[in-house]
Amino acid sequence: MAKSKKNVSLLIPLFNEQEVLPLLVTEIEKFRVERPEISEIIFINDGSSDKTVVRVLELTTSLEGYKLVSFSKNFGHQLAVTAGLDLVTTDAVIIMDADLQDPLEVAGKMIDEWKKGYDVVYGIRESREGETYFKRITAKAFYRFFKWLTDLDIPLDTGDFRLLSRPVIQAYQQLNEQQPFVRGLVSWLGFNQTGIHYHREKRKAGNTKYPLSKMLRLATHAVTSFSDKPLRIATHLGVSVSMLAVVGIIWVFYARLILDTAVPGWASSLVIILFLGGVQMLFLGLIGVYLSRIYAEVKQRPRYIIKDVWQSGEKKKHISDEV
Ligand code: UDP
Ligand code: MG
Repeated sequence: MAKSKKNVSLLIPLFNEQEVLPLLVTEIEKFRVERPEISEIIFINDGSSDKTVVRVLELTTSLEGYKLVSFSKNFGHQLAVTAGLDLVTTDAVIIMDADLQDPLEVAGKMIDEWKKGYDVVYGIRESREGETYFKRITAKAFYRFFKWLTDLDIPLDTGDFRLLSRPVIQAYQQLNEQQPFVRGLVSWLGFNQTGIHYHREKRKAGNTKYPLSKMLRLATHAVTSFSDKPLRIATHLGVSVSMLAVVGIIWVFYARLILDTAVPGWASSLVIILFLGGVQMLFLGLIGVYLSRIYAEVKQRPRYIIKDVWQSGEKKKHISDEV
């Protein structure tokens, strides 16, 4: 194996994760004994308001290779991952949750696959323990709906738990979307991709940081960044309704002029008005969603603001420098 293919980082976004940090750091340190390739751990503190920062400093000051990058506020998980990918210096990176839902043992298998020559190794969730029925069903439905909406060959039931090689990281850095959908963009990039099936465990401590509102925002970003099919469906429906309207108008004239019967028609008129009103509002809203995405892009604001960067101990030499 080429020397340059040895250093791996762990990239872990943190949003109010004080409860799970002690366990997380212990598990990482255990894992590093088996896997000395892990030379860097990048924590992105996504505007935590609890003791996340204090905990990280307490736990890792005397350890090697830890980096804590703090955002100026909460920018969201996808941007935390993006910032980490902008900063990573190693030959590969593994993106994972702080809550140990993504087992480190699987991360080890990802490294093995990468060494076989794959550039992207993603985790495929076989089962999801400890998540509500609602979350499991909506997530499953969403991945299938997303696949139907987009022409993107995105693997089903994969999250952001994945390994990316240096060429993929560099390619990702060229993307500049304001509202990135990381797993979609990584699929879009191409390269040699493979998946590992795994059992998604329970969150080890603390509560989920992805409430329904954040999940919906992620789903909207996902769809609007990869598909204009909703807009095309609106057009098709518009054409169909217009054709029906022509038939209706002919019938109205026929009934009025030839049959000479003025139909009472209160119910039918109201149904038509309400239906068309609803459909129009719905599609106006849909156009608004795409418009707001364009608006975000046009403003060209920086995607995230870094307040502070901290590094544990002495900067660790890369393993490849030592051999
Ligand atoms: N996270 C973040 N910013 C947010 C929400 C979540 O950085 O606004 C982090 C969180 O700390 C965790 C990861 O993203 O490391 C995934 O969140 P979580 O495990 O709560 O999501 P779930 O697994 O429940 O979907
Ligand atoms: Mg989680």
